[in-house]
Amino acid sequence: MNRKKLHSQISDCTPQFKNFFAFALDYLNEHNKTLVIHPGEKIRYGDEPGECTGWCDGDSIEIAREIKLFEETFVHEFCHMMQAVEDAHCWNQNQKSTFWDNLNLPEDLKLNDNSVNFWNETYKVIRVERDCEARVLQINKEWQMFDSTLYTKQANAYLYFYHYVYLTRKWEVATSLYCDEVLKVMPSQLCTLKQLKSIDMSIMNVYNKVLKNAFRNIVLYK
Ligand SMILES: [Zn+2]
Repeated sequence: MNRKKLHSQISDCTPQFKNFFAFALDYLNEHNKTLVIHPGEKIRYGDEPGECTGWCDGDSIEIAREIKLFEETFVHEFCHMMQAVEDAHCWNQNQKSTFWDNLNLPEDLKLNDNSVNFWNETYKVIRVERDCEARVLQINKEWQMFDSTLYTKQANAYLYFYHYVYLTRKWEVATSLYCDEVLKVMPSQLCTLKQLKSIDMSIMNVYNKVLKNAFRNIVLYK
């Protein structure tokens, strides 16, 4: 890792974030992990179809620089790295999840997979993401980088988004996920795993309204 270059890429971030970033680079170095910050708004994960804003595979973190929530996303991906380094149970379970493989199936094959199985695979991802968000909030308590109340609501919106993806079997690029309409119905405490075990259809209706066209092209019945 070229630390000088990495620091120059975050030169316009807040001082609090810069402090955390220096700590994060030490941690990554110490555990022999790598970080790449890409210019632009979207990156790819391997040869997977579709783009994302950041990822962590347990060896590297890659992240797009020109995204709205760059600081928050970096801390999120860093917390996934901590899960990997600590060999967390939820991280290891998630590595075995077929959630993404299933979403990448052609439309007509997606619904051949039993929905109960697909729920179990989705829930593995929810568990690792929920654990990650709890770590982000803990780190933010210490480093005071962003508004934790707002972050908690955004984290809940992201966690409930997995329910929506479960129902629609589509990963919609959801820039509108953190809009007021969604945040308004989000709890101000991080959702518990128990809460995330059932789907709240009144929240799903808000998602359906906000993430318009999400049902476009989907085969509901075969
Ligand atoms: Zn994540």
